[in-house]
Amino acid sequence: MWPWEHAIVGYLAYSLFCHTVYRDSPGGLEAFAVVFASVLPDLIDKPLAWEYGIFDSGYALGHSIFFAVALSLFVGIVAHSLGRPRTGLAFGLGYLLHLPSDVVDAYVREGVYQPELMFWPVETTGSHGHSRNFLEQFFQLFSQYQAELLAGDLSTYMWIQIGMASSAALLWLYDGAPVLREVLVGSFRFVRTLVSPETPTETPSERK
Ligand SMILES: [Zn+2]
Repeated sequence: MWPWEHAIVGYLAYSLFCHTVYRDSPGGLEAFAVVFASVLPDLIDKPLAWEYGIFDSGYALGHSIFFAVALSLFVGIVAHSLGRPRTGLAFGLGYLLHLPSDVVDAYVREGVYQPELMFWPVETTGSHGHSRNFLEQFFQLFSQYQAELLAGDLSTYMWIQIGMASSAALLWLYDGAPVLREVLVGSFRFVRTLVSPETPTETPSERK
C-alpha cells in the first residue's frame, strides 16, 4: 500500500473514532501523529532494505507486530505523561492499522496473502529480488501504479480507494483542516510579531 493510502486510512479511522467516542474533531497534534505513524513502518523498513540492505525485504522491523505494539505502548505512555493521551492513541491507531492494511492490500491488488509480513523476526517475507536502491525501487513501483491509474479501466478496489480519499478530504475539511490550520495560525502570529511595533512592558514612571 502506498504512503498516501496509509495516511488516508489512518486519518479516516482516527477522525471517525474521535467523532464517535469524544464527539469532537481531531486536534492538529493528533492529526499529525496519526498520519506520521501510519507511514512510519515504511519509513523504517523501505530505506533499510532497499538502500542499505540491512533487511531482505521492505517488511521487517517496522512492520513487526511485536515492535509495533511495544512502540505504540511506549509512545502512549509518554504522551499520557505529557497530558496528551489522545495524541498517543492517534499514534498507536495509525501505526497498528498499517500492518493489516498491507496484508489486505497485497491480497486484493496482487492476490498474495502474506500475513507473515507482520511477524518479523519469527517469519520473513523473502527478498522479492530487490537489487535497486531506494529511489529506483520507489519509481519502478510508482510507474506501475501510475500506469494502472492512467489506463482508465479502474478496478473496483481503485474506485474504493478514490472514494476513501474523497471522504478523508471532506472529513479533514469538516474537522477544520487540522495541521494546516495550526501552521497558518502560527505563521500569522509570527508575521504579526514582525510587523507590529513592540508594546512597552513598563512606563517611565514605573521604572522609578
Ligand atoms: Zn508497509
